[in-house]
This record gives sequence, C-alpha cells and structure tokens, in this order.
Amino acid sequence: MTEAITTKVLVVGGGPGGYVAAIRAGQLGLETVLVEADRLGGTCLIRGCIPSKALIHAAGEYDGMVKAAGAARMGIAVGAPNLDLAQTVRWKDGIVDKLNGGVAGLLKRAKVRTIAGWATFSDAKTCAVQTASGPVAVTAEHVILANGSLAVELPFLPFGGPVISSTEALALDRLPRKLVVVGAGYIGLELGSAFRKLGSEVTVVEALDRILPGFDAELAAPVARWLAEAGIAVHLGARATGLETVGEDHALVVEGKDGRGLKLPADNVLVTVGRRPNTADWGLETMAIDMAGPFVKVDERCATSMKNVWAIGDLVGEPMLEHKAAAQGEMVAEIIAGARRRFDPVAIAAVCFTHPEIVVAGLAPDEAKAAGLDILTGVFPYSANGRARSMEAAEDGGFVRVVARADDHRLLGVQAVGAHVSELSGEFALALEMGARLEDIAGTIHVHPTLGEAFPEAALRALGHAIHI
Ligand code: FAD
Repeated sequence: MTEAITTKVLVVGGGPGGYVAAIRAGQLGLETVLVEADRLGGTCLIRGCIPSKALIHAAGEYDGMVKAAGAARMGIAVGAPNLDLAQTVRWKDGIVDKLNGGVAGLLKRAKVRTIAGWATFSDAKTCAVQTASGPVAVTAEHVILANGSLAVELPFLPFGGPVISSTEALALDRLPRKLVVVGAGYIGLELGSAFRKLGSEVTVVEALDRILPGFDAELAAPVARWLAEAGIAVHLGARATGLETVGEDHALVVEGKDGRGLKLPADNVLVTVGRRPNTADWGLETMAIDMAGPFVKVDERCATSMKNVWAIGDLVGEPMLEHKAAAQGEMVAEIIAGARRRFDPVAIAAVCFTHPEIVVAGLAPDEAKAAGLDILTGVFPYSANGRARSMEAAEDGGFVRVVARADDHRLLGVQAVGAHVSELSGEFALALEMGARLEDIAGTIHVHPTLGEAFPEAALRALGHAIHI
C-alpha cells in the first residue's frame, strides 16, 4: 500500500544544494521531507569534490616520497614507497563515509524526514518514490528541486569498460599504466595530474587550443609548465573520435591539430568533457516549468516559473560548484520561511586543484576592460613570499593578482595561482563582498610568514609601492 505524505517543504536531491536547503528549512521549523535516490551528499561528497581532493592529497604525498627516494629532499631520504591503490581508495571511501554519516546526522537533528528512492513527479507538487519498504507519495506546499548534474557522455566513447567518467576514476582499484584524459578542464586536469603523481603515464587530449579554458592564460601557464615537467603529453586542438580495441589492448583514436590521425594506447580513457543538468526521467516535463537552455530557469530568488517550485545548484546553471548550490539552498529555505532574500553575490570564487592550484574571484583584467572599466592591476609573485620559499612553493610560477577600479580603488577581482592558494579563496571573496578598496587590503596586517601576505603586497603593487618587490 502507498504511504501518503503531505509536507510543507519537499526537497528532491540530497547533494549540497538539497541537503543544505533541507537542514535550513528544518532549523526554521518547516516540516521538511528530503528524497535522495543515491547517498546523502550528492555528487560533491560521494563522487566529486571530497573524494577527488582526497585522491589528489594522497597522490601528492606519494609523489613527495618518490622524489625523496630518488634524491633526498630537504635533507630527508626515504626508501622507495609502495602504492596500494585499492587501499588508498578504501581510505578515501572512509572519509566519504564519515561525511555522509555526518550529513544524515545533521538532517536528523534538523528533524528532516529522509526518504531513500527516486522521486518521479506527476505534477509540480506531487511525486511518487519507490522505496525499499514500498511506494510513498509526497505532496508538498513548496518543492525545492536540487537534482544536480551528470557527466557528459560522448556518443562515440560511451562510458563502460575502459572508458570511464570521474566517478569510476575515483574508484579504480588498479592503477592504469596508461591513462588518456579527454578534456583539459578542471576535473580532467585535477584527476590526470593525480594519476601522474601516482605513477600512471598520462596523456591529455583537448579540442580547444588551450588547457583550462575557464581560466585566463596567465593563470593556466604555471599549470601547463608543471604538466610538461611531469611528462604529461597534452594534445591541443585534437579531437577524440573513438576507441580502437584489439584483444586486450585499447587505443584512443584522435584527429590531431593538423588533421593527422593519432592512436594513443590506453588502459583507461577518462572522459571529462563537462557536466549537464540532470533534467530527465523524473517528470520535469509534467511540472510546466520554463527552461533556460538545458537548465531549469530561475529568477534571483531561485523561483521557477511555477509558483512555490524552487530550483537550485547544478540544475539551474553555471557555475556548477558546491558552494553556489549550498548558498542557494540556504537562501531558498529562508525565503520559504518568510525572509526577503535574493541570490546576488558579488563573486563566487572558483578553484582548480591542479599543481599548482588556481583561484579566481570576481573580474579578471580582460573581463573588467571588456566591461568598459578603467582598472589598476597588481601582481605579487610567490617567489618573493617567504612562506612560499619555506614550503618549496616559490619555484612553480605562482602569484596573486588584484584588479581594482582606477578611480576609487575598489576591488573588482582577485586571481591567484600557486601552492595552497585554494585556502586564500575565502579571503578574496570576503574582500569583494565587503567592497574592499586596495587601501583596505594593503592596510590589513597579515601574519608573517604566510602565503596570504601576497594579497596585501599585490594591492600595494597596484598602488605603486609594493615593499617586497
Ligand atoms: P548534486 O551534488 O549533483 O546532487 C544531486 C542529487 O540529487 C544526487 O545525489 C542525485 O542522486 C539526486 N537526485 C537527482 N534526481 C533525483 C530524483 N528524481 N530522486 C531522488 N534523488 C535524485 N565543486 C566545487 O565547488 N569544488 C570542487 O572541488 C569540485 N570538485 C568536483 C570534482 C568532480 C570529480 C565532480 C564530478 C564535481 C566537482 N564539483 C566541485 C562540482 C560539485 O560536485 C557540484 O557543483 C555539486 O555537487 C552540485 O550540487 P547539487 O546539490 O546541485 O547537485
């Protein structure tokens, strides 16, 4: 028999958009039901941000030991390390399991009812869920759609066997001897670099004529340099066209820049050519909701064209990032509870966890100029930062760059590349949100020695009087 539930708020999708929305709704005293077909935590926690950063960390540790085994580093010599990838993946799974349990606990504490199963809508406010203990029908006054996104599959390279997406790449129990990555965006380069550090021979194929098209060329250059030094071959302007299999051996067939055909032997081909909103197979078409291209269309409150149906996260467009999804989820819960809110951030910082890392927040110089703004820029190199020197982080071309209005010195953007710059992203976003001027940043006393000192120095440089360069 079908269990019928009526609730104030129904959230579909337990990723960072959905679970944050549900927790906040629960905290605000709204009766809330969350439906999730897979594991709580969604793409980010289960098969995205967290597991990828765990693997990247493990790869960095292993790489450091390999280097120390080759020739002592910092006076430290070790014997040759041994990698057991299956064990590394189990360690990574342990982190995911703990966080997944944490999300379940937070939802429980907020008194959210969680239903495990796939929600299929029959109209905008009603869905059916097949659960292990039978069918459930949920009707809600407010619906928050947080269905997330899926990896884009190339029709001539369908996922399966040796052709894998990031999800399978994060669960391999044997290191591919040869890994070919299709797509030089952030996911492909983060994972490709990690596998190189773990010992795979890695080749990257990218259809455009540059890596990391989402980041400006100056920011991508240190990463390109590391890829070359690490022995990762990058084929730019090259198109993968299919997989050739002879017996046990596979090769990615590629049309090179000059039209020349290439065959790249591969134990695995990792396809990372983007992600698409998850809009199929759950009854979206029954909800009479307007679309914006492939995404669900929302206004600045994340309201869809259907009254009291809200949509957040990867489902509603770029940037497809965890912190955007979570911020929208929190906001929508508060709006439903009666708050006046709109989603209007000055900046949503984005990080690429490559070697070295990249951060972008706000406008890049070209973007500011294209917007007709008269700007000042200031660049401070990691090579002049004492902490970077003490951490072997000064030699990889890292820098912090600020972009500000020439007239009132208000900050427009901050970009950085270098070791651990991801940890500076919050400071950059805060400065932008607070409307900081170059003088505010330069006048904030930063702890010495820290990488963060590069930020006020970049501001001083934009003002024409940097101290340490
Ligand atoms: P998702 O996390 O995709 O969650 C959607 C959930 O909805 C899923 O769990 C799905 O099972 C469920 N669902 C969908 N339809 C239904 C239905 N009908 N019924 C029941 N359940 C349903 N972002 C960052 O900010 N930083 C990073 O470092 C980063 N690294 C990444 C690395 C990788 C390899 C990948 C793939 C992504 C990464 N991302 C990163 C992106 C990030 O994971 C997403 O932006 C984020 O997860 C989006 O959250 P969401 O809640 O919108 O959707």
